[in-house]
Amino acid sequence: MRIVLVGPPGAGKGTQAAYLAENLAIPHISTGDLFRANISQGTPLGLEAKSYMDAGNLVPDEVTIGMARDRMNQADAANGFLLDGFPRNVSQAEALDEALKDDSVQLDAVLDLEVPEDEVVKRIAGRRICRKDSGHVFHVAYNPPKQEGVCDVCGGELYQRDDDREDTVRNRLEVYHTQTEPIIDYYRAQGLVTTISAMGKVQDVTARAMAALEREAA
Ligand code: AMP
Repeated sequence: MRIVLVGPPGAGKGTQAAYLAENLAIPHISTGDLFRANISQGTPLGLEAKSYMDAGNLVPDEVTIGMARDRMNQADAANGFLLDGFPRNVSQAEALDEALKDDSVQLDAVLDLEVPEDEVVKRIAGRRICRKDSGHVFHVAYNPPKQEGVCDVCGGELYQRDDDREDTVRNRLEVYHTQTEPIIDYYRAQGLVTTISAMGKVQDVTARAMAALEREAA
């Protein structure tokens, strides 16, 4: 399947994407993770992306679209992928449509994770992520690790993302409303959107998402 995951920052896209990708045996492609990997390796692309990310703004399309396309062209994505954080505006959605058309394939579903805004702010403020695997996500209050600062799954160091600070979060939400939300209507016009609540336990949201994707695939 070829799936796009959308939802505001803090909706749990990264957490859900890791489970869904495993269940569906397709790669989880996160442009945020690709940028963060470039930053930690000190690549020119990472250097360019960092200032935009630290401010909570979108990295320019010229950089983002090429990077996403390169990743989608890798062998493991030939039969499907789960996109997390891409596309993030209508011109990226149009570029994705073009790329898929060139390969004579199409999207199967756009999964929209819905969560109230006050919940988003609480989730992000306490979020801690594993340096070894960004799918291992904890929360200081809702899902604390057994040992502070250490990932329960793989022992990696837990850290708070620079752009999870409160001032940056507000801008990321604004950017989501003005630039990313319009892609939901763009995809709704193609009959691809299925919206689920992202509230409740992680496993319950995954089950809801799997049921929605099975309906789309039927
Ligand atoms: P995420 O990990 O998806 O929350 O993304 C973190 C940050 O990376 C965003 O706030 C943007 O600065 C940047 N980013 C990730 N994906 C994109 C994208 N598709 N277009 C532009 N910027 C992006």
